[in-house]
Amino acid sequence: MPCSGCIKSKDNVQFVHAQGPADSPLTIVCTPTTYDLEEGRLFSDGRGVTLANALSESRFKFEQAYIVPVVHQWPAAEDGSHTELQLEQCREEFRHELSNSRSKVILLLGQEALEHFIGSGGHKGGLKRWRGYILDPSECLPDVLHNCNPESLLATYDPAFVQSTGFKTFAWFSKDILQAVRCARGGQPEIFGVPHQADELPSERDLRAIRGIGIDIETNGFLGETEQIGYAWRSRD
Ligand SMILES: [Zn+2]
Repeated sequence: MPCSGCIKSKDNVQFVHAQGPADSPLTIVCTPTTYDLEEGRLFSDGRGVTLANALSESRFKFEQAYIVPVVHQWPAAEDGSHTELQLEQCREEFRHELSNSRSKVILLLGQEALEHFIGSGGHKGGLKRWRGYILDPSECLPDVLHNCNPESLLATYDPAFVQSTGFKTFAWFSKDILQAVRCARGGQPEIFGVPHQADELPSERDLRAIRGIGIDIETNGFLGETEQIGYAWRSRD
């Protein structure tokens, strides 16, 4: 079923909607790709594999997350993105689906998702500035959170972007996901000691260090006991 906003767009015949359990500790907000629209399901392509891989480093299953698209219809802009009008048409349904979320943490994937929460027009520098930071709900637009009551939000790359960099940004992406899941489980945000500037790629040394975190999670198998992850990173330094 299209949302009432999508109906106004007569060329659209394929749609996606929120999926997963709304009572999940983690809500993920994203923009659908044309592949998602063909399949009628979010993250059913390689983008989903990249996301699931990052989540699995925190032993969090992709299916456990509540996933809300900011828009439900086929992108109409010439460059393959959604137009401002489309985003506006879907805004009401997006907010309705988001209001079902009972999550502690909302993870925003990509610039469009971030803009829905803090405003557009490069407000506060956008994703380049805010990637990886914990956002307080008070920093969001006044009407966006509506009925849902997250403790924090965190913005990171769209996994499609991570793929487009040849996975050079995967370490950052996966660190952000680790942070989001940690907070969703009730933990405090961890300061990893890795610089946050999103427009700089991490150094080889940072990449090795961050990969070290993942390896230690896998081999030690602890769930949510994340102080030791920081230790693992520092001990490699
Ligand atoms: Zn819609």
